[in-house]
Amino acid sequence: MKTRTKDPIADLRHLLSAEQVLTAEEAGKSYTHDWGKTQFLTPLVVVKCQDTEDVVTVVQYASEHGFPINPRGYARSQNNSAISDGGILLDTSAMTQIYEIDTDGLTLTCDAGITWHDLVEQTLPLDLLPPVLTTNLYVSVGGTLSVGGLGVAMFRHGAQVDNVIELEVVTGTGDVVQCSAEANSDLFNLVRAGLGQFGIITKAKIKLRPCKPNVRKYFLLYDDLSAFMKDCEHLMSSPDKDMIVGLDGYCRPSLQGTKNVGEGLTLGEGVMTFAYWLYPLHLIVEYSDEDEVDDDAVLKDLNFYRHVYTDNLPQYEELNRLKPLLDVMAVAGIDQLPHPWMETMLPWNVSQLLIEQVLDNLPPNALGASGQILFWPMSSAVSNVPMLPMPTTEFVFGFGILPNIPEFLLEKISERLNTLSGFSMQLGAKRYLSGIVDFDHAAWKAHYGDFWPEILEGKQKYDPQQIMGPGLIAYEE
Ligand SMILES: Cc1cc2nc3c(=O)[nH]c(=O)nc-3n(C[C@H](O)[C@H](O)[C@H](O)COP(=O)(O)OP(=O)(O)OC[C@H]3O[C@@H](n4cnc5c(N)ncnc54)[C@H](O)[C@@H]3O)c2cc1C
Repeated sequence: MKTRTKDPIADLRHLLSAEQVLTAEEAGKSYTHDWGKTQFLTPLVVVKCQDTEDVVTVVQYASEHGFPINPRGYARSQNNSAISDGGILLDTSAMTQIYEIDTDGLTLTCDAGITWHDLVEQTLPLDLLPPVLTTNLYVSVGGTLSVGGLGVAMFRHGAQVDNVIELEVVTGTGDVVQCSAEANSDLFNLVRAGLGQFGIITKAKIKLRPCKPNVRKYFLLYDDLSAFMKDCEHLMSSPDKDMIVGLDGYCRPSLQGTKNVGEGLTLGEGVMTFAYWLYPLHLIVEYSDEDEVDDDAVLKDLNFYRHVYTDNLPQYEELNRLKPLLDVMAVAGIDQLPHPWMETMLPWNVSQLLIEQVLDNLPPNALGASGQILFWPMSSAVSNVPMLPMPTTEFVFGFGILPNIPEFLLEKISERLNTLSGFSMQLGAKRYLSGIVDFDHAAWKAHYGDFWPEILEGKQKYDPQQIMGPGLIAYEE
């Protein structure tokens, strides 16, 4: 029987320090929601941990007194798991040390709260980079390793969780465990993309790769999804295209006007805005010296509609390309809107039909301000992490709908995106769970497939009291 203490804030302040332990009021509104802003919850307490020892203290305290814990990096996810409903919100953002950059062994060991941005700032001067980086660099290593970490290089290297060598984890029982493919591999398999359900990642040893200081970026445009996909297949499977280090795909509306459809989404009965959809594809090639790059070789055998532009820029600017957009979103207040983002990884063979159907029925204004549709082409062979399941086809088409919308559209849009999520799963897709998720027990079980029994066993072993991230995964019917 757990003894509920009367004053957890005072207790935790005593165990840590007064500055590290904040009431919900002291922590402020930003701790009540994640990037999605689809739910607002008030934590009992926010604890800013500085190191593994602090994390152990908090988890042991929570375990002793039966308090739920949600780990949090920068809360840039949208599934409401980096917030807490009356429990302990464990903020890792002050855990930012880099312990070692091994330039021979090509590894880096760091705290889980450091951002990929701060990490890249240290590795780039050494001409080294993590093999896969998220578009938004202002997120934590622990946060992306807990959801997957997708990026433009994943067609070559898999997700960020495929590029981790070792993790230090404080499990839900308060034990510090080192895990890797060789040691405690069950925990290693559970915490990578584990949504904070089994423990808190405190340190990570990740892979690095040699890189060059500059990139050339080819802005190609397609007016036909089939041609876009054929070229992606070609780029992913042709050995003579191995100079390409990034494939960044989008879907953009060319707004045509309104059409009659019966029931419209935002313009009332009968009409809907509609678009002619275009498909930009950015190819990224690295170089030290401009003459190294052979444009003809890069573009040979591709069937784009237009080659819009070619840019040469320092590697850092390319990696940090989202920053100007994030700044604009902040100035325009777009970052304060609800962001019910939904990404699904489709089997290649169903992608075109499904996406074209979605686009036919998607009024472009439903994406809201600066809303995006993203494509991540990848090969399933390069990713092998059980908590980040992929469709079984040779190629996988990541499809993300990322609206930034006013509050009054939230319910309607979320409902449609959840319907699309379910439909895509029926076609063999696997969801990327950083986004909105509305799964029942059967959907969770289906999502994880054969790995589900190991999840149940792991939860029992590493978080027997179910204090870690409660309410997200429906373990029982
Ligand atoms: C503008 C924008 C662009 C983005 N682009 C990409 C992209 O290109 N690719 C991509 O993959 N994602 C992208 N994302 C999503 C984002 O990278 C992920 O949601 C990431 O998890 C956020 O990191 P975070 O530090 O904010 O984690 P949080 O949102 O704080 O946490 C995410 C999850 O991890 C858990 N968690 C956090 N830290 C730990 C820890 N140390 N140990 C255990 N569990 C932990 C949390 O409880 C939660 O379940 C983008 C988000 C935004 C807002």
